[in-house]
Amino acid sequence: MRIASWSWGGRPHAGLLSPDGREATPLAVANPDRGAFELVRALAHGEPLPPEAGPRLPVEAITLRAPLKPRRNLFCIGRNYRAHAEELAGTVFRDAVAQSRERELWPIVFSKVPETVIGPFDVVRLPGRAITEQIDYECELAVVIGRGGKNIPRSRALGHVFGYTIVNDVSARDVQTRHQQWHLGKSFDTFCPMGPCIVTADELDGTATRVRGYVNGELRQDGLTKDMIFDIPAQIEAISRGITLYPGDIIATGTPSGVGMGFSPPKWLQHGDVVRAEVDGIGAIENHFEER
Ligand code: MG
Repeated sequence: MRIASWSWGGRPHAGLLSPDGREATPLAVANPDRGAFELVRALAHGEPLPPEAGPRLPVEAITLRAPLKPRRNLFCIGRNYRAHAEELAGTVFRDAVAQSRERELWPIVFSKVPETVIGPFDVVRLPGRAITEQIDYECELAVVIGRGGKNIPRSRALGHVFGYTIVNDVSARDVQTRHQQWHLGKSFDTFCPMGPCIVTADELDGTATRVRGYVNGELRQDGLTKDMIFDIPAQIEAISRGITLYPGDIIATGTPSGVGMGFSPPKWLQHGDVVRAEVDGIGAIENHFEER
């Protein structure tokens, strides 16, 4: 199934997208203000699909929103593709990269506040040059947790995956590095476009798909999720150690090489740029970057 959320007739809706992504079917979902959050939770608890709740609509007639509004911070994995770690070895992260080569035992985990989340085609707002001059993109596969749990072993981790979606983990590099903790540089308003839908795990193997990122039509990122340093089961195992995961939690699984920071000189995003993130088996999100 492809689960989505959208606005139509001045109201939020949640339901299904057809397999070709061209038709939306609204379902009787509780609290559609949170998108498909309650639908994900109900399905993860084994409840049946709710009945249809309105006319089927062509996707051109609706405005897709983020498939769900997370109830808490998104978990995010840092430096999780070898080629991406290598491209950062020439940046301010060089010492950290050198250290992590020696002991790749634990993933880097940081978070983004849920208010960063915007729709798959919404505008990302640049906070202004007084705040940051180094805006970067990170096109990523994101995991949507289904059944919750704590201390989940990697052998059972994929049983807790409801499905997959796409995010752009937009990052302000100067702020990210200035504060040691990455949280502020990752959490500006609008810095997490998400969508266009959630593809359920029975229809997509997130451990064997492909992530691409384009800036103004130019292919910058192209990675295979099988090349992650910490694969998805390892991420779930690490994050759930002593921390309960809940239905609808999001894990951004890391970005392939080709981010702006990795170029010499770096290629920061500017007003008017367009970033497109694609994942095979899901589709694409595309966002304009604009000054306020
Ligand atoms: Mg990232």
